[in-house]
Formats: sequence, C-alpha cells, structure tokens
Amino acid sequence: MDKRISLDGIEILQTLGTGSYGRVRLAYMQAEKQFIALKIIKKTEIIRHKQVDHIISELAILRMIQHPFLVNFIGFTQDDRYLYFALEYVPGGELFTYLRNIGRIENFQAQLYAAQITLMIEYLHSLNVVYRDLKPENLLISGDGYLKLTDFGFSKVVEGRTYTLCGTPEYLAPEILMNKGHGKPVDWWTLGIIIYEMLVGVDPFSDDDPIAVYQKILKGKVKFPRGFDKAAKSLVKHLLVSDLTKRYGNMRGGINDIKNHRWFSVINWHRLSKREIEMPYKPFISSPGDTSNFSSYPDSSNMPSPVCSDDDPFIDW
Ligand code: AMP
Repeated sequence: MDKRISLDGIEILQTLGTGSYGRVRLAYMQAEKQFIALKIIKKTEIIRHKQVDHIISELAILRMIQHPFLVNFIGFTQDDRYLYFALEYVPGGELFTYLRNIGRIENFQAQLYAAQITLMIEYLHSLNVVYRDLKPENLLISGDGYLKLTDFGFSKVVEGRTYTLCGTPEYLAPEILMNKGHGKPVDWWTLGIIIYEMLVGVDPFSDDDPIAVYQKILKGKVKFPRGFDKAAKSLVKHLLVSDLTKRYGNMRGGINDIKNHRWFSVINWHRLSKREIEMPYKPFISSPGDTSNFSSYPDSSNMPSPVCSDDDPFIDW
C-alpha cells in the first residue's frame, strides 16, 4: 500500500523535537482533522553525512511496522529540499523528559514500562528488525500512559550480524564498541540500561567524558545503589552481560527468560498487550494538539535548507 501524502492541506505547527538531520513538528491534516507528527529531514544533510542508506531503511521499516506500542506510520512525501515522514502524534512527551522531571520511576511503573519495551523488541525482532537506539528520548507517552517507540533511523533489518557503529554512547553494547558485529542482542542490552535508568534516574555507565563511558561499558561493572530492587537487579545483571551466549534474550530460552523473570511476575502479558492495565501515570493533555508535554524549541531559522538538485537520490521514492 502506498502511503503517499500531499503537503497541501497540512498545516505545519510547533517543533516537537530535533533529530540529527532535521526536526519533528506538530502538523494538522485539515481534511482528516487529525494532528500528526511530521518528521522533516534535510536531503542535503543526509547526503553530506552519507546517511542515505539509513533513511532508506527507516522508511522501509516504517512501512513494515504496525503495532500498538510503536508510532504508526501515516505517510510520506518530499519536495526538492526535504523528506517528510508523517507519523501518529504521541502527545505525552518523551519518557526522557518525564524521567528527568520526576527523578526516578517507582518500581511497579518501571515494571510496566519495561514490559512494554520488551514487547516492542519482541515484535521488531520477529520482523528481523534490530532497533539499535533504545533510549528514553525515543520512548513517547500516549494519552493513556502507554509507551510508543519512535525513530527508526538506526534500525536495520538484519539476518545475523551487522557491523556499523551507531547509537548513543551511554547505550552502546560492548559488542558494538569492540566492532565484533552485532544483532538482536544489542536491544536486550539496552533494555537493561533503561531498567536501571528508570529506577535510579541516571544510566549505569554515565560520565561526562565519553571515553570514560566506553571504558565503563567494556569493563561491564555496574554499581547498584543501596535500595535497588533485588529482582530488578537480577534481571539487569542478566541483560548487561558482555558474553552474548549468556545474555538474556539471546539464550536458549529466548525472550521467555526475560518475560518469566521474577521481576516481571506482576505482569499479565496478555492484558498488557491489549492495553487493559491502567497506567499509574497519564499525561495531562488539554486538547488533541496540546504540545505542553514537549520542551519548547526556538523556531527554525528562516533560511531553508539548500535545494537538493543534481543527483537527488530520493527523486524516485
Ligand atoms: P527523531 O528525529 O525521530 O528521533 O525525533 C526527535 C524527537 O521528536 C523525539 O525525541 C520526540 O521528542 C519527537 N517526536 C518524534 N516522533 C514523534 C511522534 N510521533 N509524536 C510526538 N513527538 C515525536
């Protein structure tokens, strides 16, 4: 199904977030009377940073996915300067912002969030998609409090292993740093990081110096603060394992090692996947186009991105 959209009749509004090659803005589709998140990507920047393959892969994956815990893809268009990805608008803001505002997430709520992230990864891996950039900035909060994953810019369809270095320093798995080739287990590693970060408020390998971050990851020693939930500690220790043959999610039991872990014993997986469990936190949303849960961004400069003229690699998309 071709999900081509037209910019006519789309009103482009505030910036919701910025990415490496453009920004994501709230927009309103007048005919459909629907707010959307419009990811606007500068063609010349993509080419300059040799990211054409990543963008091709992002669009292909967006077209492939359909899951209640992932942002739904609405459509695609382009002009001579930009690519536009229309996505379902998720109004509750980033898990990142919420976490920084409240400091730490209480154990039961963290269990619910981590379980949803587990289901997101399970779904993506069932399509042979490795997400590779799991972090609280890419987890958005829906009106009912459930999470939705966005940004498939680093995701990749893989059979086996891939070798590209990408991702965010604090969340990189050791096999990525060692350039040993990496696949689905990287997402289970980052699940371990996120569980720790939700419960503690900072990620386990944080340091102002990126080199120190890398050293800590490779050393693999995680310090758990006093009072850290014991069952959560056990699961995190099974996920933050450098040896891939011993990392949960990648062993003989597969994802069941994670789902059946005792920290998740409170989770009814079936009801969770049907969104039947009430979330402890629901964002305040005054109207469908409310952006108050997002940080404010200065307007983009009036200088449009340069035209991508001669060999526009996107022209036939
Ligand atoms: P991205 O470039 O895809 O990483 O998106 C950058 C930021 O834009 C995210 O961290 C969110 O703050 C925001 N964003 C992306 N997609 C959406 C969406 N579907 N709904 C609301 N905000 C979004």
